[in-house]
Amino acid sequence: MSCYGELERIDAAIFADTQWETKATYRWLKFLKNESKKYGIPIHTVKQGNIKEDALISQVRGLKKDGVRWASMPLFTLGPNGEKGMIRRQCTYEYKIRWIKKKQRLIAGYKPRKRIPPGTVEVWMGISTDEANRTKISNDKWIDFYYPLIDLRMTRLDCLNWFKKKNLPEPPRSACIGCPYHHDFEWRKLKNESPEEWQDAVEFDKAIRKCGGMRGDMFIHPARIPLDEVDLRNAKDHGQLSLFSDECAGICGV
Ligand code: SF4
Repeated sequence: MSCYGELERIDAAIFADTQWETKATYRWLKFLKNESKKYGIPIHTVKQGNIKEDALISQVRGLKKDGVRWASMPLFTLGPNGEKGMIRRQCTYEYKIRWIKKKQRLIAGYKPRKRIPPGTVEVWMGISTDEANRTKISNDKWIDFYYPLIDLRMTRLDCLNWFKKKNLPEPPRSACIGCPYHHDFEWRKLKNESPEEWQDAVEFDKAIRKCGGMRGDMFIHPARIPLDEVDLRNAKDHGQLSLFSDECAGICGV
C-alpha cells in the first residue's frame, strides 16, 4: 500500500528469517522484494541462526553440543502424571524482534548503545481488525508502533480482496514450519499442500519428545500426541477470532 501511494511512503521493510519458514513464504518474500524495488523501497532480511537446527543441536540427546543457547519455542508439555504445560516462548524475541530492532537502529542512523531520541522510529505492523487483540504499545521510547490496517478498519478478508483487486498473488501466512501456534487448518494445509514440509514438522516433533533437562514429553501440537497421529478434522478451526489469540504481537503469523 505504501508502494502504491495508498499509505505514506515507508523508508524500509524488514523480514526476520528464522530459516525455517515455508517455501511459500520465501516465494512471497522474493515477489515482495522485486515489487518494492520498483518503487525504491528496500526490504531487508535479518537472521541469526536456524531455529530448527538450534533447537535440535541444543536439546536433543545425541545431537546436543555444549554452549549452544536454546531460545525456546512454545512447545506443549505432558508430565509423567499427565500434567499439561507449555514452555515459555523466547523464540520470537531471539530470532526476530532482537535483530529487527538492531536493523531499525541502523536504518535510523544510530550506532549500537547510542541514545535514540523518543519517537525516532515508527514501526508499522500489518495486523488486521480481526486480530486487533495482538496490538501493543512499544516498550522502547524511541519506537512508536503503528497499525495501518486497524486505522483503515481492514479485516483479513479485506486484505486478501485488496490483493485480488490489484491482480497480485495471494500472500501466505508467515510462521516457522513447526510453530506450535499453528492451528489445525494450517497443519492440514501443510500436510495436503506441502508433504515435504509436513514431514519435516513431523520429524522435528518426534526429535524433541525428550528434550534435555525437561520433565515429561514435549509436543508441537496441543493434543500432546505425535503430530502425525493428530486428527486434523477439527470443527473448532472454523472460528476466525480464536485463530490468532495465541500468537506473538505483530511479529509471527502476520
Ligand atoms: S513462528 Fe512460532 S516458532 Fe517461529 S519464532 Fe514465531 S512463535 Fe517461534
